[in-house]
Amino acid sequence: MTPPTVLILLGPPGAGKGTQARILEEDFGLVQLSTGDLLRSAVASGSAAGQQARAVMEAGGLVGDEIVLAILKDRMQQPDVARGIILDGFPRTDRQAADLDALLAASGQRVDAAISLEVDDEAMVGRVAGRYTCGSCGEGYHDTFKQPAAAGVCDKCGGTGFKRRADDTAETVRERLKAYHAQTAPLISYYEGKGVLQRIDAMGDIAAIRQTLGGIVAGVSAQ
Ligand code: AMP
Repeated sequence: MTPPTVLILLGPPGAGKGTQARILEEDFGLVQLSTGDLLRSAVASGSAAGQQARAVMEAGGLVGDEIVLAILKDRMQQPDVARGIILDGFPRTDRQAADLDALLAASGQRVDAAISLEVDDEAMVGRVAGRYTCGSCGEGYHDTFKQPAAAGVCDKCGGTGFKRRADDTAETVRERLKAYHAQTAPLISYYEGKGVLQRIDAMGDIAAIRQTLGGIVAGVSAQ
């Protein structure tokens, strides 16, 4: 049996990792694994890990590797990951990348592609600070770039409750960008060295990026 596809989306906050990961779920039947989402659930549930992560997340820093790795390993035990995964927001440090390699190797897998979504930092502050999602289906919106067709009603599911992330303020985005450049951007060279890196220009519109990304994923899945 061919091992399931393992993709990594790399890029600063606002680059579109979450948006494109959800599209790849639909287009290719892969499963999005977002450590940010897993951590937000842990915070909401009030678990010990969530309580430790909360303040760091609100300040825009990186949560400790031990906590993140435990949460990810737990999620990777679920049967649905056998369909193949898109890692969104993970790995973010050298240690996480090394541990991921070890975790995959233990089941005969490896990273098939690490795709770097390349964007301008300054544009990211505006993209992130204005974004919000439907509280029912998770569809993404933006104060400036994408409002629902009928004010206050989700285009996709008709829901009327929307939410904003506590860390999507301009000030916190700047901290998150700093953390990205200091700790995560070096992983681009790490995956380049392994021969699995692909860079794409992610400043264009969602549909154009979807097409470029889809071409890469189709190529990887066919191998
Ligand atoms: P995200 O949803 O990917 O933007 O992540 C939101 C926040 O969760 C980040 O700013 C970090 O505080 C934390 N976080 C998410 N993924 C990781 C990770 N792989 N390592 C450390 N912290 C993370």
